[in-house]
This record gives sequence, C-alpha cells and structure tokens, in this order.
Amino acid sequence: MNLIVQKFGGTSVENPETLKIVAQKIIDCKSKGNEVVVVVSAMGSSTDELINLANELSDTPSPREMDMLLSAGERITMSLLAMHLNNLGYESFSLTGSQAGITTTSRHGMAEIENISGERVKEGINEGKIVIVAGFQGVNKETKEITTLGRGGSDATAVALAAALGAEKCEIYTDVEGVFTADPRIVTKAKLIEEITYDEMLEMASSGARVLMARSVEFGRRYNVPIIVKPTFSEGSGTIVKDKVMEQAIVSGVTHNDKEIKFTLFGVPDQPGIAGKVFGPLSENGVIVDMIVQNVSKESKTDISFTAPLEQKSEVENILEKLSTELEAEGADSDPNIARVSLIGAGMKAESGIASKMFSILGENKINIAMISTSPIRISCVVNKDDMQKAIDSLHKEFIEA
Ligand code: ASP
Ligand code: MG
Repeated sequence: MNLIVQKFGGTSVENPETLKIVAQKIIDCKSKGNEVVVVVSAMGSSTDELINLANELSDTPSPREMDMLLSAGERITMSLLAMHLNNLGYESFSLTGSQAGITTTSRHGMAEIENISGERVKEGINEGKIVIVAGFQGVNKETKEITTLGRGGSDATAVALAAALGAEKCEIYTDVEGVFTADPRIVTKAKLIEEITYDEMLEMASSGARVLMARSVEFGRRYNVPIIVKPTFSEGSGTIVKDKVMEQAIVSGVTHNDKEIKFTLFGVPDQPGIAGKVFGPLSENGVIVDMIVQNVSKESKTDISFTAPLEQKSEVENILEKLSTELEAEGADSDPNIARVSLIGAGMKAESGIASKMFSILGENKINIAMISTSPIRISCVVNKDDMQKAIDSLHKEFIEA
C-alpha cells in the first residue's frame, strides 16, 4: 500500500468550510487505496494574531513562552480536522509534534528537526486510521521544551515526516496552483512550472518564492522525497519537485525578495580576521545574512555591506552599533529601500553569458545594481525597491516569455 503525506497550509484550513474541503481531499486520497498522514498549519493568519497578542503584552516575550503560544495554533486545526473526519465515519486522531516523536534542536522559534521516531503515527497507520500531525513544532530531548521551526515550518514537518515514514510522496496543498515562473500577483504572464529540480526549488525558496519553506526542499532533496505543490481549491495537478526533470530550461524562474534590508559598516580596518569578527556575532545571534559585499580598501579601511531579513532589523542594528565601537569603524547605516531580483535555472550551468545578459537588460531599463551574488544556478541583483517591478517584468519577458 502507498503512503502519502498531505500537508494543508493556513489558507486551506482557514475556517470550518475550507476544513470540509480539506477533509474531502484526504478522503479521496484514502479511497484510492492509499494510507494518508496529514500535516496541518494553523488556521488562516492565526499565527500572526498570536504574535500580535504577545506583542500587546510584552516587547520582549520569552522565546519559550512564544513557542508554547505559537504551537497552540496548529493544535486547534489538527483536533478540529480529526473531529470532522470522525464525524464523516473515518477513524482519525491528532498528534502534537512531540507526540509524533519529532525531536528538534533547542533554539526556540527557529529549531531544526533532528529526528522523527513517528511511533504513534505508524501505529495509527497500521490500524487504518488517518493520523493528523501538527506542523511547525517539536520537542527538544534535553530541555524537554516545546519548540517551533520558524515561519512556514509546517512544510518542513511534512517533508521530514514523509522521509521518516518512507512515504511515496509529500503533497503540499496551498491556495495557489503551484510554483510559477514568477509571482503571478506581480507578473501577469507568469506560467505554472510543471516540474522543477530540488536544487532550483531550493534557490527559488531561498530567494523569495514563498510557496515552500526552503528547509522542506532540503529534506526532500536529502531523502529523495518527491514534493508536489498543489491547489486545495481546484483540481490542478500542481508542480512536482524532484531530482531530475525531462526538459531543463536555462532559466526556470525569476524571483524577488523585498523583505530585506541592506546594512553597511563603514571604515572597518582592512585586516585579516575582520570579516569573522563582523559576521561571527551576527550568526551567533541567528541573523540570516544573505548577500555580502566588501568594497575596495582605501587607506587600509573598507566598507562592508550585507543584506538581512527586515524583521531582524533591530537585532542587526544593536549588533552593528557594538561592533562599530569594538572595531573602531566609522559607523553603520541601513537602507530598507532595496529589493533582490534573481534568475534561477539549472540550465545556466551549461550556458554562458546569462549574467551579462541580465546586467544588460537591467542597464537598458536604467536600473542601477547595488549588489550582485551568484551560485552555479542563480544570479541575484539588489536594486532599488522602486525599480523592482520593472526589473522583474523585463527579466521575465526576456528569459521566460521569449
Ligand atoms: N503556522 C506557522 C506559520 O504561520 C507555520 C506554517 O504555517 O507553516 O508560519
Ligand atoms: Mg506556508
């Protein structure tokens, strides 16, 4: 018998009506002779609402209590869904991450899955029941504390669970048709991608595509679990993420991220070990540094710029203030008016000149490039936020529509 893990995101489980649609998807899958394990997110935007509640009472809520609070969101969904399935005559029960044997590192709010024993999940499967697991959470063995996996973490729960259970595939149900060549809300001609490699999807997710959490794609790649991103509210076949695709496009997608901020540390002494002294404290504090640029040194001093997520702004500013004094730098500054635009495509490895073509197109459109970074299958440029739309449109037109 085939085992399929189905994950339903926040908008799919938003209210009792959509939960009924979700239940029907699960029943349809089960009726085809599959075993089904379900992973759910919190209902609608309830995670955001819980965060707002916390912020009304505290500017610096304890990370432990935050995880106790946020892990409750998924528990609401899982129990409601199990009740409803039971009502429809399908035996079902729900498990928290901890009950499902999901153990994680101890970092609250950003824990990583270490192991999934899944004992009670397997028991349920053997009894022919539909097991529903709360996404986005686990428990740390040493501290015995409940942890959460970071925003969007239910995707990681689902794919990791699929890997641990040896599932045939992991289906991620969402409110869009699948993964597109660009954000369809921004680019009207964006096309649905039928299949894409893990490597490309990982770059897409890390560079702004918001349909899948990057870490879930890493699990998929590591354990070779096919991930299918599918619509909950229509019958579309979605996008398959797997190790090889039939036709490898040179450029598969254009992504953007306007949720980052650029920081610059001015006049840092240009000596061996300085970059370590700057980025060490940032990473120890969980700051996700993305692009880094170090300028040419003048009079043995240099400027170092990097980008980091907007939501970490105040943490980064505090760290930079301290560093500036410690390193006798000339001060620090931030620029929130930036956006990153990226081209992703595994076919770029075998094709030269894509980067220069990208820069020319941006240049022809009078768009200034502030930072550049590349990987073998990605080229990213940081541009002014006001130029973002034009940049995406022109790149999509040239590399995807042409
Ligand atoms: N509920 C969590 C969030 O909103 C996790 C998830 O939905 O994947 O980020
Ligand atoms: Mg999500």
